[in-house]
Amino acid sequence: MALFEYAYDVNTPVHPVSAPDYMPVEQLRALQLHRLQQLVQRCYEKVPLTRKRMDERGVRPEHIKTLKDIKLLPFMMKSDLRDEYPIGLAASPISEIARFQCSSGTTGKPICVANTWNDIRVWQEGTMRCLAMYGIRSNDVLQVSYGYGLFTGGLGLHYGGEGLGCAVLPTSAGNTDRQLMLMHDLGVTAIACTPSYFLRLIDEGQKKGIDFRRDMKLKHGIFGAEPWTQAMREKIEDLTGITAHDIYGLTEISGPGVAGDCPHRTGLHIFEDHFYPEIIDPDTLEPLPDGEEGELVFTTLTRTGMPMLRYRTRDLTRLSVNRCPCGRTIRTMDRINARSDDMLIVHGVNVFPSQIETALLSVHEVQPHYQIILTPTETMDKMEIKVEVTAECFSDDIKSLENLRKRVFSAVNRIIGLSPTITLVEPYSLPRSEGKIKRVMDLRKR
Ligand SMILES: [Zn+2]
Repeated sequence: MALFEYAYDVNTPVHPVSAPDYMPVEQLRALQLHRLQQLVQRCYEKVPLTRKRMDERGVRPEHIKTLKDIKLLPFMMKSDLRDEYPIGLAASPISEIARFQCSSGTTGKPICVANTWNDIRVWQEGTMRCLAMYGIRSNDVLQVSYGYGLFTGGLGLHYGGEGLGCAVLPTSAGNTDRQLMLMHDLGVTAIACTPSYFLRLIDEGQKKGIDFRRDMKLKHGIFGAEPWTQAMREKIEDLTGITAHDIYGLTEISGPGVAGDCPHRTGLHIFEDHFYPEIIDPDTLEPLPDGEEGELVFTTLTRTGMPMLRYRTRDLTRLSVNRCPCGRTIRTMDRINARSDDMLIVHGVNVFPSQIETALLSVHEVQPHYQIILTPTETMDKMEIKVEVTAECFSDDIKSLENLRKRVFSAVNRIIGLSPTITLVEPYSLPRSEGKIKRVMDLRKR
């Protein structure tokens, strides 16, 4: 089946790389099924763990007759990648592997992913389709301030930008002064990095008297690789005047460019001709219909190096029911504010750091820099939230600072139902990051 041989009916001109986003739904489903059947056959033949698990269930590749039959297949998880470290899950011989990427594990060895050239092209297509969706074009200057190397952020956006014809500036992360200088001198119009690193760039700029609106040509920020809330997005846009786009991806599936949001912001469009999404109930593991929230699962329909069948991401979201006004036929998922792994249990209450972020940023004087510290005490766990507020707050009298503290407390208390200690701190007093930021310090015994 030729992927690009169809017409699409939209009023606005569409960038050529975006064409698959508008494929008629019946054709998309037929393509997905065709690719799934080929993938299952390949994994059954080449990946011992998959064959063993399918045999245990009495499932054979020919049992996949419709897309719904995907539920017959076993899941894969991060622990499988660890157990089969480094490349026991590869479905291609080393002669066909073009590049390894690794993702740092919290403990012990990293997880390792083996990509063929085909996989790198699919990955590049994902980032190109994202950038095109954001409105980025060949006359844009793209600064890639994600780390380059084993981490997929840098190389992923780099290839996407080059593929789209942008002028790419591969600064990688770090050396913030030089980043700001080059951003200014080369007239950078788009930057890709973690939202927390962009906050740091804003900070360092402010210290040097740089006003992003006045002194920079920056229009687009492409942010991902760590959870960030809608409130954080609004704060960033407010501080700099740029449009903050969301990009989603994970090393196990390819890297950034699995999904991104269009200007209508109805959610993140998933490039589901390559990355087939399911939502499952994390307890029963049963598939849930579109519109219901659960755990996001991906099958890499076109991957050849180390394909993933029904990979459990641990991310909680839901798939759209309605078509996005942009005309794309590929489904969207809700922005991922909360990862199930990030959930904290405090005094028996489930708390997501994203809820705290949303509460904090609802108070105008609060800056987007905070830390959540959990410490054990003899009787009860203690939760302290340190948050930066504007310098002006500290020049005011003590009484108004105390009033502000009370307002921040109420905002947090209203959303999470707990009574943490709120400590207001001066600007630049909390740690900044060059990559993924760690905002939660959980010092309790596990
Ligand atoms: Zn859309």
